[in-house]
Amino acid sequence: MGEVRRIIILEDDVINKIAAGEVVENPSSVVKELIENSIDAESDKIEVKLSEGGKSLIQVKDNGNGMNKIDAGLSIMRHATSKITNEKDLFAINTLGFRGEALASICAVSRFKIMTRQKEEIKGTEIFVENNDVKIKDCGAEKGTVIIVKDLFYNVPARKKFLRSIEHELSAISDVVTRYALAYPNVSFKLTNNNKTILNTVRTKKGINTIQAIYGQETAKNILEIKDEDELIKIEGYIGKPSIARNDKLRQTIFVNGRYVKSKEISDAVKEGYRSLLFLEREPIFILRITVDLDKIDVNVHPRKEIVKISNIKQISESISTAIKKILSESNLFVEANLETGNARPQHSYSISKDSQATLEINDDNDSSIVGREEIKETGSVFDNLKENIVQKEIETKHIGPFRILGQISKTYILAENAQGLLIVDQHAAEERVNYEDLMKQLKDKAIKKQKLLKPIILELSPSEFEMIIKFREELGNSGFEIDEYGKDNIVVRSMPFIFERPSKSLVSELIDELRELNKGKIEREIEERIIRFSCRKSIKAGEDMTIKEISELIKELDKCELPFTCPHGRPTIIQLSISDIEKKFKRTG
Ligand code: ADP
Ligand code: MG
Repeated sequence: MGEVRRIIILEDDVINKIAAGEVVENPSSVVKELIENSIDAESDKIEVKLSEGGKSLIQVKDNGNGMNKIDAGLSIMRHATSKITNEKDLFAINTLGFRGEALASICAVSRFKIMTRQKEEIKGTEIFVENNDVKIKDCGAEKGTVIIVKDLFYNVPARKKFLRSIEHELSAISDVVTRYALAYPNVSFKLTNNNKTILNTVRTKKGINTIQAIYGQETAKNILEIKDEDELIKIEGYIGKPSIARNDKLRQTIFVNGRYVKSKEISDAVKEGYRSLLFLEREPIFILRITVDLDKIDVNVHPRKEIVKISNIKQISESISTAIKKILSESNLFVEANLETGNARPQHSYSISKDSQATLEINDDNDSSIVGREEIKETGSVFDNLKENIVQKEIETKHIGPFRILGQISKTYILAENAQGLLIVDQHAAEERVNYEDLMKQLKDKAIKKQKLLKPIILELSPSEFEMIIKFREELGNSGFEIDEYGKDNIVVRSMPFIFERPSKSLVSELIDELRELNKGKIEREIEERIIRFSCRKSIKAGEDMTIKEISELIKELDKCELPFTCPHGRPTIIQLSISDIEKKFKRTG
């Protein structure tokens, strides 16, 4: 009787194929791993060549450090890595995905070839792997490494079946290469498929050049550079001005410690930094390289899915929001009118009545129409000297500065001139911004104006509701609610913030409902929401006449705002048309 064997030890070949599934899912995950290796090897030129969207061929060629014969032989073994040397480095396995698995996995499921040479060597090494059979020999090779991956999953039909269409795989690869190109402007990237060039970036010191090459000039013109750090993180990269925000998150790129990742938390934190600058569901554009101190923070990148888990994510998120908010409040966020695309064309026709024109006639002797006259005198004839205007335009400023009112059109938009050119101000949006910042400041200074209630509101609460209100009495007080205990489980509301206009019992109960899952942030947010609504209601409407004095006040107040360029809903308040753009349009200059 023969023995019955139930337990077998899997062959290395099988183990490798199983493990390969962990790292290699599709052509784009192969490309990602190979690009990361090339970057780790200090390359500044990376070329990715594909056939059929990577299904039949993926070739990644770099000009990095290369490998000697021994290392090249080791590089395709499982758990072979030059990036972890001792146990202390072990954290890096999770952190940055250095598992020494990528090459071993890729060569287990493809017809695989490496050609590599280090700078100081004369001969290079060539390794060919197919069906577990490894051939190593000397060869002539350029400095750096070329890796060729043919017929991915040729020996794992079950996986091959799950590959998507050529177009789909190609677009996934092109996405990955684009992200790396954006995050590493100092590396040139070229991507071709069936000899057709898909992406070709030039190595540059300025990331803005790469952004222009990939996303175009309009985006590049509206990008801010960010570089900030605190005790937890370093944050570098580029963020788009609110005016170029999109309806999707496609142009959001996050790198954590050099690895391309996806993170809803980080994306949300960036958006939080744009608070009150973005219109409704708009999503900001950004390319951020975040570096966290690995002694303090645990980072875990899923090997395949690019999802990052970060300990202390709350604190990190706050650091990110603060950095974004800071740069936005320091920057010039003027929306430049674009004459070429014709978006400065009026949306509807309108007539200017004789009356309103009369009020808006500009008379240089009339002080009220020129604001900041003193400053104008000091800088010379700002309004007369066009050349000087152009020079002034170069100076990036977030201020309107001295201005002259030209008029109001369609009883909705104010026209004014400043040193940079023509300003078009949406009167309603502008006043909303002014009111919003004014009220937010009151809230912050705990000086929200209260209204005493002629008839105090008495509310019967459940014991737990009562507890809650008493617990948050101080915060509520700071926000304008004066509340006292009134017998067992009852409260009396004696005053309310005046932003509530018509106080009512149901309004207060609604608020208490909000307090149920209450944290402080939530009341503040609720109050901010109300402030936004109130700012809107209180502001001058489109279609209302404004006097020169009112216009001048409004622009001056707007100029004092921390974030003057959008209303609290994120719509623009000012559009600028620079003198040089006007000159171009009239063909005075090229
Ligand atoms: P890991 O990147 O996690 O170390 P890999 O399997 O991706 O594991 O690579 C194994 C090793 O092969 C790397 O640690 C590195 O030393 C070497 N290597 C891989 N690709 C390159 C390359 N393009 N240039 C130089 N060395 C490379
Ligand atoms: Mg690697």
